[in-house]
Amino acid sequence: MSVPADEPGNPAHAIFERFLRAGECREVLGCFVELCQQLGLQGSGLQLYHGLKAALNYWNAKALWSKLDKKAGHKDYEQGTACAGTKCLVVGAGPCGLRAAIELALLGARVVLLEKRDSFSRNNVLHLWPFTIHDLRALGAKKFYGRFCTGTLDHISIRQLQLILLKVALLLGVEVHINVRFEGLVPPTGKAGTVSLQGGWQAVLQPSSSPLTHYEFDVLISAGGGKFVPEGFKRKETRGKLAIGITTNFINRHSRAEVEVAEISGVARIYNQKFFQNLYNRTGIDLENIVYYKDDTHYFVMTAKKQSLLKKGVILQDKADIESLLAPENVNRDALLSYAKEAANFSTNYCLPQLEFALNHRGLPDVDMFDFTCMTRSENAALVREHNGSRVLLGLVGDCLVEPFWPLGTGVARGFLAAFDAAWMVRRWAAGTPPLEVLAERESIYQRLSQTSPDNTNKNISQYSIDPATRYPNINLQAIKASQVRDLYLVGTVE
Ligand code: FAD
Repeated sequence: MSVPADEPGNPAHAIFERFLRAGECREVLGCFVELCQQLGLQGSGLQLYHGLKAALNYWNAKALWSKLDKKAGHKDYEQGTACAGTKCLVVGAGPCGLRAAIELALLGARVVLLEKRDSFSRNNVLHLWPFTIHDLRALGAKKFYGRFCTGTLDHISIRQLQLILLKVALLLGVEVHINVRFEGLVPPTGKAGTVSLQGGWQAVLQPSSSPLTHYEFDVLISAGGGKFVPEGFKRKETRGKLAIGITTNFINRHSRAEVEVAEISGVARIYNQKFFQNLYNRTGIDLENIVYYKDDTHYFVMTAKKQSLLKKGVILQDKADIESLLAPENVNRDALLSYAKEAANFSTNYCLPQLEFALNHRGLPDVDMFDFTCMTRSENAALVREHNGSRVLLGLVGDCLVEPFWPLGTGVARGFLAAFDAAWMVRRWAAGTPPLEVLAERESIYQRLSQTSPDNTNKNISQYSIDPATRYPNINLQAIKASQVRDLYLVGTVE
């Protein structure tokens, strides 16, 4: 016999509360399965959301539903029917894949999301633009993470952001599968509409035994991060001057002394020469910039000069190519740890007591060195493939579209803008807009992405939606013509 959901002590309430607080990816998914079982709910999509809403009718749940209902009531979603009948596959449960999945679910599409890992382990902290804070609040972020952007704080750790978005995605009926790797597309073997042969596009997955290999979809949103793009997309490299980034995280015990230390939201050498000169004179550390955010951890990101890394014994030998320069065998890990700790201590005036490294997912001190000399971006944001009369729309979002320069903190803001743009594209696709028009419009919008900043995007952030006109001032959706994107419509099998 099922228990009425608004009864005090109702087990479903307890599971839901655990779901809201869950702090690990697997725990979130486990609680959600348990919750659906407890409530006798099956299926996916907005239907599942409505089922949950009807069954969980107590104050804390209701406060969340009212936020999500407000969001879902936006006219762009046409009451969750705009993309009804569209089947989407989203690759990657990073912030941008999850954010795109949420929009597609609100549009009423069936959304299956694949993630090759089973944990969210990145302590590093992302800078949030005002619109991303507003956006996340509107998705109920504070219900899942009470400390979300308290006071003037404008950042969040990558893992906390993933947790919030994963929970929202699940509640909106996104089907999330972890430990599944996307490896490529399988073109249809039969004509669209025939019964005996596969009429739609499918995916090559690892493990190949995954039942999702039979899932046929019309849209693939690829959000696999910096290194992953599906075949067909070309990447462009921009080589700038040598830039070596170091990130590090220290345990935050939230003591009074720690609370009092001021954050550094981006000091660049050109703005504070004295600080960097003093740092160099006192420690031999030579930086271009440094950022310090206090979140779950004390997080620092800095760009270090090669000469000082060589002098301090972090890099063992100078090499012409950056890959060999930063190869593990050419880096002294202990010296790197000391370098990062010294820079953190100096820049916080030695006021953070007992700096102790937080651990990364390998159980090692969370310090990393990265190359930002060569940044990549995709030449195009979308493609259409056609085979045997069946089409699939492919779109990129997040780091695989444009790789961000971390010290500038553009990654997640531009990533969310692209997630909204991709959702808008899927809406146009579902409305039956001719494919070349969909692609031309998407490329017209994409042209704007790399120049966006909080200053040149629309100021009225409460009005932002997936409609590009709400976000980009004077956007010309026809800047690129259909005749200019013919090469983005690929006919035939996938090589
Ligand atoms: P990601 O967050 O990289 O997510 C991509 C997801 O796709 C991952 O979960 C990955 O496991 C999954 N995936 C990849 N390939 C496949 C596949 N074939 N099949 C299934 N799943 C797949 N930005 C900053 O501003 N500051 C930082 O300090 C910072 N540190 C970072 C540290 C690391 C180690 C990484 C990888 C990124 C960091 N970033 C940082 C970048 C920042 O995380 C991204 O800008 C932001 O998370 C948005 O990225 P995304 O969602 O596009 O991709």
